[in-house]
Amino acid sequence: MRKKIVAGNWKMNMNLDEGLKFAETINTYFKTKASVAEVILCTPFIHLAGVSTIVSKGKVICGAQNCASEPSGAFTGEVSPSMIKSTGAQYVIIGHSERRTYYNEDDKLLNKKTLLALASGLKVIFCCGEVKQERESGTHFKVVKKQLEEGLFNLPSEDFKKIAIAYEPVWAIGTGLTATPEQAQEMHKYIRDLVNEKYGNDCAMNLTILYGGSCKPTNAAEIFSKPDVDGGLIGGASLKKEDFVAIVEAI
Ligand code: PEP
Repeated sequence: MRKKIVAGNWKMNMNLDEGLKFAETINTYFKTKASVAEVILCTPFIHLAGVSTIVSKGKVICGAQNCASEPSGAFTGEVSPSMIKSTGAQYVIIGHSERRTYYNEDDKLLNKKTLLALASGLKVIFCCGEVKQERESGTHFKVVKKQLEEGLFNLPSEDFKKIAIAYEPVWAIGTGLTATPEQAQEMHKYIRDLVNEKYGNDCAMNLTILYGGSCKPTNAAEIFSKPDVDGGLIGGASLKKEDFVAIVEAI
């Protein structure tokens, strides 16, 4: 059975003290619970070292939300994948729609970040997804295909195995609109078929594909029940213990 993941994306929320206390609460909760999903907290950079120390005494894993595309040097304000790795974090989100939109990160740059992150020993949650207008005009499959081909498909298959893909329709992120379970399943199956064509059945069947976009305790179970949905990337609802825990338990 392929790996299930529920990853919280805190985005730019919580100061250091608030974040560490929240991580402690989540870690304490899951310490005594058997969860079928890997639970990941993707925090701002300032929390990584502290959260990694906290979760090292439990089952929760720490990840970053972005990384630099260069390994080191004169890049003021950037944080390299190897720096992230040195905090104890194991994952990095690459290609989130907020990075693509607000910071103009294109497929070429995201591919560079992905290759560097993997070479630095991190696992990658690679985001893809269409905007509202693309969905409405029926180009959503084409858009996602291009994001994956240009962002990921030059990876050797050994590296591809360290990737989880998050399908996040941009029109559903933080909007309260959610893809229907059928829409999510349709795109996840499409993604798995693309991976099958490129990397073969073994890689495709073992690929974890997460859904993201206004996932909540009230809709998580139905979305997660679909055969090609292997968990979720959770934004807003990952900031409340009860909601996040309920979403993990929905799996
Ligand atoms: C996200 O930021 O990845 C996300 C899915 O956000 P939200 O759950 O708030 O829509």
